[in-house]
Amino acid sequence: MRNRIAILSLIYVLFFIFSACSTIETVPVETEKFAMGTFIIQRIYSDDAENISNKVIERIKKIEEDMTINKQGGEINSLNGSAGKGYVNLSQDTLYVLAEALRISEASNGAFDVTVGPLVKAWGVSDKNPIVPLDNDIKNLLNLVNYKDLQINMNESKAKLNKEGQIVDVGGIAKGYATDEALDIYRENGVKSALISLGGNVAALGCKPDGSYWRIGIRNPRGAEGSYIGVVSVKDQSVVSSGDYERNFEKDGIMYHHIIDPETGYPAKSGLIATTIVSDISIEADALSTTVFVLGLDKGMEFIEGLDGVEAVFITEDKKIYITKGLKDKFKIEDESKEFEYVEKG
Ligand code: FAD
Ligand code: MG
Repeated sequence: MRNRIAILSLIYVLFFIFSACSTIETVPVETEKFAMGTFIIQRIYSDDAENISNKVIERIKKIEEDMTINKQGGEINSLNGSAGKGYVNLSQDTLYVLAEALRISEASNGAFDVTVGPLVKAWGVSDKNPIVPLDNDIKNLLNLVNYKDLQINMNESKAKLNKEGQIVDVGGIAKGYATDEALDIYRENGVKSALISLGGNVAALGCKPDGSYWRIGIRNPRGAEGSYIGVVSVKDQSVVSSGDYERNFEKDGIMYHHIIDPETGYPAKSGLIATTIVSDISIEADALSTTVFVLGLDKGMEFIEGLDGVEAVFITEDKKIYITKGLKDKFKIEDESKEFEYVEKG
């Protein structure tokens, strides 16, 4: 018995030593640059932080160049330009993002649909002059939205869209990929502690330099920028949010946002106003935050509880907050507005 207790104590001590973070004494460098239509903030604890942050921005700008549909040129534009005409050769970067987008599109039964581009363009929520398209136009465009029409040939590094007019849009996933790439650059350069934020995509490398976990704020979707409803404590994880507050416009007293339900062609009305995913992999967190926003609370909760190592926060339009089971020890409600109510789900 005594031996067993001794062995258990040893395991406990070893677990503590290997899971806890050590302290780091370097002063951080914080940089802010603009790319992918958002501000990219990096806080890096390293003597070479300035140089490393530049490498990250260079990498993100290259990904943006390849994958943008907001500017001319790049691989996704050439895939879209050849829709209905045949295969286009693509880099490993673009193929990987498309393959991941397709995986989530399939797993979510099209709630996430990487071919949602024609609808995104029609609404133009992020453009200077967004419009509410005609019902009939939306119905016609829905014929072009089907992830099953995206065919990827990994062996020959090429992909195609089956129908003319189809448009792939990686706006719901590529910031996550860029974040994973940034984390790789930190690791390759010996960084042990860093934080990166691309709009609603935040990722933590290691722990905070004092050895404690990073506390990432979950934005109050009805408050000003910088106001929070809660905090998740993480190390080596991404915390990615989607919400109707990110990009929207108002017409005749109705607010229209940028996350489209591929079933209706209209901005998703799932009863949710914000979602957050916590995961080890940022590309997955990004795609899933968009996915569950479309799925709504019940289906979204079921979907995420069925995935390993992925947790979520859901905020409903009646200002209730729900979290997945695995987040209980990591999430803390800190709502200055006192307008939100935390609800434990049966
Ligand atoms: P998320 O919830 O992560 O994603 C929402 C976005 O995903 C939508 O904007 C749409 O693009 C797409 N989407 C909508 N519905 C679905 C659905 N059901 N399934 C799958 N995808 C869906 N913004 C600019 O203003 N100017 C730019 O030049 C610009 N360039 C960009 C270049 C790249 C490579 C990327 C990745 C983004 C760029 N953006 C730009 C931002 C982009 O237009 C999106 O608005 C942004 O990615 C949305 O991110 P989010 O985190 O707010 O929302
Ligand atoms: Mg997303």
